[in-house]
Amino acid sequence: MKFQNKIIKNILNKYYYISSLESLISLADWDLNTYMPESSAEDRGFVLGKVNLLIKNLILDKKLKKLLEKAKENLEKLNDYEKGVVRVLEREINIIEKLPNEFIEKFNKVTNEAQIIWRNAKKENNFEKFKPHLEKIVELIKKKAEYLGYEEHPYDALIDLFEEGWTTKDFENFFEVIKKPLKDLFNQIRNSPFYKEKHPLEEEKYEKEQMEKLNYYVLSLLNFNPARSRLDIAPHPFETAISLNDVRITTWYHPKDFRRSLTATIHEFGHSLYELQVDPELKFTPLQGGLSYAFHESQSRFWENIIGRNPIFLAKIFEKAKEFLLFLKKYSFEDFVLYFNIVRPEKIRVEADEVTYHFHIILRFELEKGLLEEKIKVNELPEIWRAKMKEYLDVDVDNDKEGVLQDIHWSMGAIGYFPTYSLGTFLSGMWLEALQNELGVIEELLKEENGILRIQNWLKEKIHKYGKTYPSKDLISKICGKEFSAEPFLSYIKNKYNKLYNLP
Ligand code: MG
Repeated sequence: MKFQNKIIKNILNKYYYISSLESLISLADWDLNTYMPESSAEDRGFVLGKVNLLIKNLILDKKLKKLLEKAKENLEKLNDYEKGVVRVLEREINIIEKLPNEFIEKFNKVTNEAQIIWRNAKKENNFEKFKPHLEKIVELIKKKAEYLGYEEHPYDALIDLFEEGWTTKDFENFFEVIKKPLKDLFNQIRNSPFYKEKHPLEEEKYEKEQMEKLNYYVLSLLNFNPARSRLDIAPHPFETAISLNDVRITTWYHPKDFRRSLTATIHEFGHSLYELQVDPELKFTPLQGGLSYAFHESQSRFWENIIGRNPIFLAKIFEKAKEFLLFLKKYSFEDFVLYFNIVRPEKIRVEADEVTYHFHIILRFELEKGLLEEKIKVNELPEIWRAKMKEYLDVDVDNDKEGVLQDIHWSMGAIGYFPTYSLGTFLSGMWLEALQNELGVIEELLKEENGILRIQNWLKEKIHKYGKTYPSKDLISKICGKEFSAEPFLSYIKNKYNKLYNLP
């Protein structure tokens, strides 16, 4: 039994109401993003707003706060899980208490409006239209940082919302370390005789029904359990946990380029496995679910890239894929592997490969930091965007639709989110290193009959089962026996692409 302390038990009894409402919100949210009749969007927004307010009142309940104070006085008597409950709950209360109601209302109003404007501005390739809204958001974000408080940099307060305990300095150091090696690798690939701007498989049309069969086949290799999960279709793939035993994923289908559907399916599966493997005793407590944005992304990217794009894994699915997608019979296995691992400069972040992806993030990090430091003005963003894309990836961005207007994040007021994408990817490299130290080389594991299950059990024992028990940096040290380092991912990626592109 993980929760023995009486005060903690009382806290949990109160928290079950909160987590139950959150579970229903997740279900309503899933419905909203999948099959809900279009006209009910406004009504659903109303309902979700009211329920969120209910949750807020329950979190700010005075009795709950008193119990929490009491628990804190007896902190040394608590085990790690009980301490985790105190930490997570205190953090939630703190964030809510620091932001005045009027501020939250204004923030929601401005960002709700901005999202609609952004969508149209993007469609019309018209940054001027979005500009005044983004200016308002940046002003509000600066206020938010002041309300939340920080030691060194206002950006710290915002980053911490997405990745507890991480700072601007941490990310500056991280990005400084990775810039040059990634740029060197990218240049080497571009000069390789195997380099391709386009792959013929990208143009092959496919039938949705056939692709669906391939997705389910690949999910079965990954031990997907339909009793606790399901696969649906959504305009933008996502994963959502309704409870520990109901974690749903979505994918998408296009007329051509089947890789996009398969990699999205595997990516979202990675997110779902994390939630499904949290210790059942943490169910409905503040500790259930994935630890953070970066930890979650480390799981989805581990499965999408390190496993899903690995030639040994691709060999497992090639024969079956040919049965569903007949055009594959015209291609060799080498074509198939290169199709999944093509490296080339892209304008669009979400289309970027494992090597160039991080330059998209570095660019956004530098812009967000510049906006907060007031060294960059909103009206300068499109121009700086173009200059940096040219510098980092040698890409000419000739319209804002494919430049500064491409992501939804800023219109939602989500500033400080982007850096966690890169951190998550580099964490997946750390997990790979630790896993290989204990279980042996991943390629050999993937050849074993139970290899995938062994990998999943390792992830469960080392990462998943703890849920939110430990803060980010502590759990990294616990898993890897060392602090965060970019080296494992850099060596993984160099190794992989040296082989694929036959680099010197
Ligand atoms: Mg993801």
